[in-house]
Amino acid sequence: MDRMISPNPHPASTAEFIALEELYGASNYKPLDVVLTRGEGVYVWDVEGKRYLDCLSSYSAVNQGHCHPKILAAMQAQAAKLTITSRAFRNDQLPLFYEELCALTHSHKVLPMNSGAEAVETALKVSRKWGYEVKNVPADRAEIVVCGDNFHGRTLAIVGFSTDPDSRQSFGPFGPGFKVVPFGDAAALEQAITPNTVAFLVEPIQGEAGVIIPPAGYLKKARELCTRHRVVLILDEIQTGLGRTGKLLAEEHEGIEADLTLIGKALSGGFYPVSAVLSNKEVMDVLHPGQHGSTFGGNPLACAVARAALRVLTEEGMIENAAKMGEYLKAGLRDINASRVKEIRGRGLMVAVELHPDAGGARKYCEALKDRGILCKETHTNTLRIMPPLIVTQAQLDEALAEFRAVL
Ligand SMILES: *Cc1c(COP(=O)(O)O)cnc(C)c1O
Repeated sequence: MDRMISPNPHPASTAEFIALEELYGASNYKPLDVVLTRGEGVYVWDVEGKRYLDCLSSYSAVNQGHCHPKILAAMQAQAAKLTITSRAFRNDQLPLFYEELCALTHSHKVLPMNSGAEAVETALKVSRKWGYEVKNVPADRAEIVVCGDNFHGRTLAIVGFSTDPDSRQSFGPFGPGFKVVPFGDAAALEQAITPNTVAFLVEPIQGEAGVIIPPAGYLKKARELCTRHRVVLILDEIQTGLGRTGKLLAEEHEGIEADLTLIGKALSGGFYPVSAVLSNKEVMDVLHPGQHGSTFGGNPLACAVARAALRVLTEEGMIENAAKMGEYLKAGLRDINASRVKEIRGRGLMVAVELHPDAGGARKYCEALKDRGILCKETHTNTLRIMPPLIVTQAQLDEALAEFRAVL
């Protein structure tokens, strides 16, 4: 077999890159036909040199903007010094990462992982263990309540309790122990709780489902129910957390604290996969050496990058900006007043435009926006999600709003 890495002349055009990707890649995504090569702040550039305003932020992984210079500097400095030790040995970045993250989020304990799905898996494992060892649930009987239309990642355990047919179909058999209740329905949650319930896993705002905001008071009620019935409240803030909704964590909108909070995505400002489970002491303390882990979790490069990513998020006023610009964006979108639009909703810079079912689907509007230099992505059939980096300015939003007006 010919071992040449690149048998063809180097691709240069958008069409050539796409053809190569389609030829060799698994088809588990359907991206817009734009091939990006560079990013800076809220902008990205394609291989033809055309500039776009990024209105997706890689689903919130680049809240701090593309290639933030301070995160880049931290990454470069750490990469030249020490990248990984494994957890067989200690490193001098992990304790500082823990300390800074706990101070910022008022957590007692942190468990570092890499992807968001791994943080979710960790929370499921820890809460089951807590259920058996602290709540005294009978062996193998633990139940975890989740919500319909959830999105928590792509591992087998997680897709096993998804209600999205594409995510589940033909991937079974799935493990038992999960109960699905409608999102936003506190009475249904209360009914689902039994003496064997160990956890309730929920997104404060459902992102993938189309930026679905639960009724006011829902999370507060969920917090009360979990406390009353000794159930671990797990908030998946992988998308809503780290400033996206105009607060550091979305739980702050209802003045509650979860027992386990999951963060990822923007935890590295998009430079590296870094996720974490934030915990109170009681739940995380059930884990002992050898019972859970990850080779790359907590490596010094990840920790240095995450420390810088958290620092710029707070020091550069990005969270306050998200709150302010989010209001501006929603008002601007409502001003467009297009008959195709059914609803504008959102919190902070997590905003959705839901189209009427007869508008022909959101995808074609994303394609048209792409041609006009705005990148956003449809979610489900009829919803456009608009989530620019949290550093976006009013002038840049005006630029985007002009294109939304033209397309809608
Ligand atoms: C993205 C996301 C995940 C999964 O994160 P990965 O890093 O893709 O594994 C989990 N939960 C929510 C709410 C997310 O948005």
